[in-house]
Amino acid sequence: MTRDGAQYIEGLRDGRQVYIDGELVTDITRHPAFKGAVQSIAALYDTVHDPANREKLTFASPATGEPASLAHLIPRSAADLTRRRIALKAMAEKTYGLMGRGPEHVAGFLAGFAGHAHVFGEGGAHFAENVQRFHAKARDEDLYLTYTILPPQIDRTKPAHQQAEPDLYAGVVAERDGGIVVRGAQMLGTGTAISDYVYLSNIAPLVPGDEAYALAAMVPLNAPGVKVYARRSYARAASSLFDYPVSARFDETDSLLVYEDVFVPWENVFAYRNIDVVKRQWFATAGHLLGNNQAQIRFWTKLEFLVGLAQRVAEMNGSVKLPPVRSALGEMAAKVSTVAGLVLAQEQNAEVDSHGVAWPGRAQCFANMTLQPQLYSELLVMIRDLCGGGLIQLPSSANDFANPAIAADLDRFIQSPGFPATERVKLLKLVWDMVGSEFASRHHQYEMFYAGAPFVVKSRMYDAYDFTPGRELVDTMLASYDLGGLREAARDDRVAVGS
Ligand SMILES: Cc1cc2nc3c(=O)[nH]c(=O)nc-3n(C[C@H](O)[C@H](O)[C@H](O)COP(=O)(O)OP(=O)(O)OC[C@H]3O[C@@H](n4cnc5c(N)ncnc54)[C@H](O)[C@@H]3O)c2cc1C
Repeated sequence: MTRDGAQYIEGLRDGRQVYIDGELVTDITRHPAFKGAVQSIAALYDTVHDPANREKLTFASPATGEPASLAHLIPRSAADLTRRRIALKAMAEKTYGLMGRGPEHVAGFLAGFAGHAHVFGEGGAHFAENVQRFHAKARDEDLYLTYTILPPQIDRTKPAHQQAEPDLYAGVVAERDGGIVVRGAQMLGTGTAISDYVYLSNIAPLVPGDEAYALAAMVPLNAPGVKVYARRSYARAASSLFDYPVSARFDETDSLLVYEDVFVPWENVFAYRNIDVVKRQWFATAGHLLGNNQAQIRFWTKLEFLVGLAQRVAEMNGSVKLPPVRSALGEMAAKVSTVAGLVLAQEQNAEVDSHGVAWPGRAQCFANMTLQPQLYSELLVMIRDLCGGGLIQLPSSANDFANPAIAADLDRFIQSPGFPATERVKLLKLVWDMVGSEFASRHHQYEMFYAGAPFVVKSRMYDAYDFTPGRELVDTMLASYDLGGLREAARDDRVAVGS
């Protein structure tokens, strides 16, 4: 059954240990660093829970018949992927594409894992059962899952077991009755502070000797020993909603996760001391593709929002009438269309495998991942270019409008035709929060890295792309001529195509 926002919020009051600015947070739902993001996620839960959206955003749980978020669907056909995409797009629009690790992100990974639970079963049948049971639980209890699947950046030149201390990277240190004990740290838990469970595993390659780190497990945020160290809060630094409209509401936070002798019961363990399974979970299941397919639906939404803002600024400044500005907006629109087209192409290139699971088109998914950092960086520069100094020539805060003497000058000198000062300032402060603020800068880093370092993503694209047609064209071309000119067979080809 889907939860509503109030139930989600209540679930966060569970004694978790989240630290920020030198203090333990006593109630994350009320703390200024987190409450804006909590409210935004709660609003998303309300939307999915709303009976009016049941048809569009949910499916009937095969276990209970109750509505479950489509984020948890194991797609069985291209039509399922389309249905899922329509739902995920509507969910992304609730947060303007600004919450990368909302409840609908890791849900996609888990659905993919459950569709190919046999991969986890290679380490023992009970692991496959654990994956399927947890997927059903997450679906039917409408859990919010996040993940930490990389060790901290301590020394990237050495494998896990050769770090200066054996328990820097999170790994198993003991087995106890009923489960395992995990110690060490992982990065970078986006949204983890305000989620229900964190998935602890590894996507970076492990090598022989790293067996203790070859884990996959679901850990509740209130498990004793789980410590969440949040980065600086942009929401808390926001002077007002008017001044920082997106920082204040959508700062999902990123955290270092420290697992200090955390006991994980066997039923929450998906892989244990198994380098092969930990590696294969990402690519021998549809998990990685489904998770990233969702991420790109969100990215598409965010780009639509950014381009909408760019057009509004150009309209406000009157520059939209200038051909070079229209051409720049056209180029921005082309970038969004590229991302959208590659999302839709993943449905057209979907394949249903022998397990009855529909995989989104792999090459199209990796193409989007590859282009994303570049497209996003270019778009930010183009919007800055379009806005010029207007983004900076803004009142220091909303309070300036409260002082009549200051407001009189602002009303006169910071306005545009059809846009009184407050409207102009409101729009430009929103743009600044999207392209220039600390929140915006973190988003730039996020879009560059959330799917992995660009060099890693590009090499995955190399593996995903079918070079065969191109190679065949090269062979045909090279075979068509030699030192003596066009070969006889090629002449026939030319006649055959009527040239
Ligand atoms: C805002 C943000 C949110 C994130 N959220 C999450 C999350 O929710 N969960 C999670 O698990 N992770 C998350 N991540 C982590 C993300 O997955 C990693 O940042 C990403 O996989 C890259 O790893 P890294 O940061 O350790 O970079 P590194 O691997 O250290 O790479 C950094 C740079 O070093 C260079 N480099 C490193 N190694 C090589 C090499 N072998 N060859 C050539 N060049 C190299 C490259 O220039 C590379 O871009 C997040 C990251 C960011 C920035």
